[in-house]
Amino acid sequence: MRPTGRLHLGHLVGALKNWAALQDQYDCFYFVADWHALTSEYADTRALVENALDNAADWIAAGLDPERSTLFVQSLVPEHAELYLLLSMVVPIPWLERVPTYKEQREQLSEKDLSTIGFLGYPLLQTADVAVYDAPYVPVGEDQVPHLELSREVVRRFNNFYGQKLGVRDGETIVAPVLVEPQPLLTSFARLPGLDNRKMSKSYGNAIDLSDAAESVRKKVMSMYTDPKRIRADIPGTVEGNPVFMYHDAFNANLEEVEDLKSRYRQGKVGDVEVKRKLAAALESVLEPMRERRAQALANPGRIREMLFEGSARARKVAQETMERVREAVRIRY
Ligand code: ADP
Repeated sequence: MRPTGRLHLGHLVGALKNWAALQDQYDCFYFVADWHALTSEYADTRALVENALDNAADWIAAGLDPERSTLFVQSLVPEHAELYLLLSMVVPIPWLERVPTYKEQREQLSEKDLSTIGFLGYPLLQTADVAVYDAPYVPVGEDQVPHLELSREVVRRFNNFYGQKLGVRDGETIVAPVLVEPQPLLTSFARLPGLDNRKMSKSYGNAIDLSDAAESVRKKVMSMYTDPKRIRADIPGTVEGNPVFMYHDAFNANLEEVEDLKSRYRQGKVGDVEVKRKLAAALESVLEPMRERRAQALANPGRIREMLFEGSARARKVAQETMERVREAVRIRY
C-alpha cells in the first residue's frame, strides 16, 4: 500500500479486511510501498514517512499482526531495487507502455509530469516486489490483474535467459525457473463509492478515514448522497446503487436490520435520517475498536517504527536469499 495519505473505509473493505483474514492461511508479507509512492509523488515527499507510520498504525488497528505476518517498508529492503534493475535489462519498453493503467493514469494525473522512467517502470517494480519473496500469490482486485499478467511474462522471460536449460520437449526448451511466476489471489468486492457517490478519492474529500473521530463519522454519514428523487420519506426509494445502502451492506453486521431498512425504503416507509443514523451506529461498532487499537499503537510512536524495522529485517533475509540465487543465475557473483 502506497503511503500517500490516510487510509479510509475503501482500504478497509477492499484490502485490509482481506489481508487480515489471509493471515490464518498464509505466510503473509505486507509492505509500505514508499518507492511506489514516489512514482507519482516524487515532487513532494514531505509527508511520506509520516503517512507510512500512520498507515502502519491503521494496519494494526485493522487486525494485521506483526507476530504472524511480516509487515515492512519497501525502501528498507533494497533488494527490491536490485531485482528491479536486473529485470529492467530484459524487459522491452513496449511491454510497459501497453499496461492499461499507464496511459489512463498519465491522462488522469495530467497535472503531474509522469513521463519518467520511475512511473513507466511501476509494474516492473511490482514484479520485483513479489518475485523477490518467491511469492506464489498476490492478493489483488480485478484492476490489478493486467499487472500480474505482465509480472508473469517478465518472470518467464527472465527465466528463459537465466534459468538452467534442462532439455527440449515437443520442440520447447524446458528451463528450471530462477523466479516464481505469481498468481492473483482475487478478492471480489464492489468498489465502495465516495460519500457523494463519486469515486472515493482524497482530492474529492469524500471518504471516511479510519482515523476519523466518532463525531466526524456521524456528520459525514448524515451528509451522504442518497436517492435524489426521494424528496420526502413517503416516496418509494431505490436501494440499488444507493451509497448509503452499499455502506450498510459493507459494514452493518445486523443483516436483519439492513433487510428491514431496504424493504421499508423501497415502500417509502422510512426516512433517510433513520437509515443514516443506523449506518452511523453500524460504522461506529466497526471503527470504535479500531480506534482503540490505533491509539494503543500510537501511544508509543517509537514502537511502530521498531515493528517496521523488525519486519524489514525479516523480509530482507528472505530477499537476500533470493538475490544470491538470482546473482548466481545471472553469473555476476564474484
Ligand atoms: P494507489 O496506491 O494505487 O493510489 P489506493 O490508495 O487508491 O491505491 O488503493 C489501494 C487499494 O485499496 C486498492 O488496490 C484497493 O484494493 C483498495 N481500495 C481503495 N479504495 C477503495 C474503494 N473505494 N473501494 C474498495 N477498495 C478500495
